[in-house]
Amino acid sequence: MVIGMKKLGLGCMRLPLTDPENPARVDIAQVTQMVDLFLERGFSYFDTAYMYHGFTSENVVREVLTSRYPRDRYILTTKMPTMRLKEQGDLERIFGEQLAKCGVAYFDYYLLHNLNTMHYEIAQRLDAFAFIRQKKQAGQVRKIGFSYHDGPALLDQILTEHPYVDVVQLQINYLDWDSAGIQSRKCYEVARRHGKNIIVMEPVKGGALANVPEDVMQLFEAATPGMSAASWAIRFAASLDGVCMVLSGMSNMEQLMDNISYMENFQPMQESEREVLAQVVSRMNAATAISCTGCNYCTAGCPVKIPIPTYFSLYNTEMQSMRRGFSVQQVYYENYAKNHSKASACLECGQCERQCPQHLPVIRWLKKVAEVLEE
Ligand code: SF4
Ligand code: SF4
Repeated sequence: MVIGMKKLGLGCMRLPLTDPENPARVDIAQVTQMVDLFLERGFSYFDTAYMYHGFTSENVVREVLTSRYPRDRYILTTKMPTMRLKEQGDLERIFGEQLAKCGVAYFDYYLLHNLNTMHYEIAQRLDAFAFIRQKKQAGQVRKIGFSYHDGPALLDQILTEHPYVDVVQLQINYLDWDSAGIQSRKCYEVARRHGKNIIVMEPVKGGALANVPEDVMQLFEAATPGMSAASWAIRFAASLDGVCMVLSGMSNMEQLMDNISYMENFQPMQESEREVLAQVVSRMNAATAISCTGCNYCTAGCPVKIPIPTYFSLYNTEMQSMRRGFSVQQVYYENYAKNHSKASACLECGQCERQCPQHLPVIRWLKKVAEVLEE
């Protein structure tokens, strides 16, 4: 990243729409105004992907940004849709399409999109890392990396097998930081151990941390009057060492202006503010459905090896997130379920309930997990 560059990126995956039912109907007039203001206030980073907004986000970027501003006014990142790759030729074909859709001769950052167990297997089989490396050598890409949605062990493996990547994009927010399901902190620590710069996605947890419960908002107000709930979430992520960029999927001018107000002259979080966040996390967790402590006493004896605390954590987060459509928790659940038994595989033997120090009705909760996350 450029030294002194502002640490807020405009994520082009939740842009305002003219038809709320159709993600491809982006409100171009409003996005144009947002881009103009964003650049005018000294920000420069834009994040898009092949598949955002029903495959139209890259075209929107061309229309509102690259066709209107000189190439050195902005930093542009897009992503190879790893999940759609069938054969090696797809890499070159899609990359060429992306350059044309975005209307640029090179990308500043180019990432393999959404690596997890399954997509990493595709990337390995088709040599996708070699492809992006070669694009960097050819000057069509400045920096390479991947966005990631899985656990710390696989991240460690990928970074060990591909130590030359420049950057990793991770889901980090204060509520997922210590959660057993998403494991933000552990993934962050792996990336730092490998010496990687980190781009943060979902700092506001898909909008959930912008709309916090009333008692939490009172805590924020008492600490820093007049600051939005989103400001706490974005500043938390931006304050971590090694985080070079925080993406915010801004959906209207009001959100953009709010984000700009505290990121224009970004001040890292003070210790006293971190203490407020610790209280907030414990309040939000206290309001969670399943009071599992993640002790793992129940898992060793499970005949079908269900990762019980992990599924409970994802369920709790799902319940807090006031989901609209796409669910990150569901993506993580599906990833886990590829290598472990699903919640619905429970044999109701009762072993786990006998072990649980919290006396949780595990069998009943697993049924709820299956209902909510196995759609
Ligand atoms: S009741 Fe279900 S989750 Fe619990 S140990 Fe038996 S099979 Fe595993
Ligand atoms: S034993 Fe109970 S508290 Fe511990 S991980 Fe299992 S369900 Fe959670």
